[in-house]
Amino acid sequence: MVGQLDLIPVGAIPPGLLDSLVASLPNPLAIPCRLSDMCIDPAAAYDTSRGQYDSHLLLPPLEELAKTKGSRVLGITDVDIFSSVFTFVFGVARFRGVAAIISLHRLRTSFYGLPEDAKILVSRAQREAVHEVGHLLGFTHCQNRNCVMSFSAAAEEIDLKSDRFCALCRANQHDERGRPSLHS
Ligand SMILES: [Zn+2]
Ligand SMILES: [Zn+2]
Repeated sequence: MVGQLDLIPVGAIPPGLLDSLVASLPNPLAIPCRLSDMCIDPAAAYDTSRGQYDSHLLLPPLEELAKTKGSRVLGITDVDIFSSVFTFVFGVARFRGVAAIISLHRLRTSFYGLPEDAKILVSRAQREAVHEVGHLLGFTHCQNRNCVMSFSAAAEEIDLKSDRFCALCRANQHDERGRPSLHS
């Protein structure tokens, strides 16, 4: 795996969280990671009827940035995002594309009426980040519940998986012939 991953805030993000991601992502992804000095405003992607932000409108500006920088880009947002397939998503990525985005909104314990837990938020954000960047790198969903590429429909399911690709995923990564479709 080669290249560079640029982390770009999409709206206001707790600064400590971005630093944690920059420090923790290079190991599982085997890609150098850096925090961009740019920031994208998610306002244009707001859907007034849903009260959420359209992830499909947030990806193109991130993809433009990736092309400009010649890198892969991961957007981090705190707003609630949806896709054409799901009423909400923790993240979305174009398979073997150049940009992905994750949302912290439903990773927060406070979203579920619990006290805010910064450690759990960082841990979930890291797993979701590895998962979505995994799609960029050619990884598809995995049935192994411990594998970072297993699909999580609920936040507690993210807590059950590791931040690592399982041996089967690593073996299959370069065999898949996926189209550049959108994955969550
Ligand atoms: Zn796997
Ligand atoms: Zn996925």
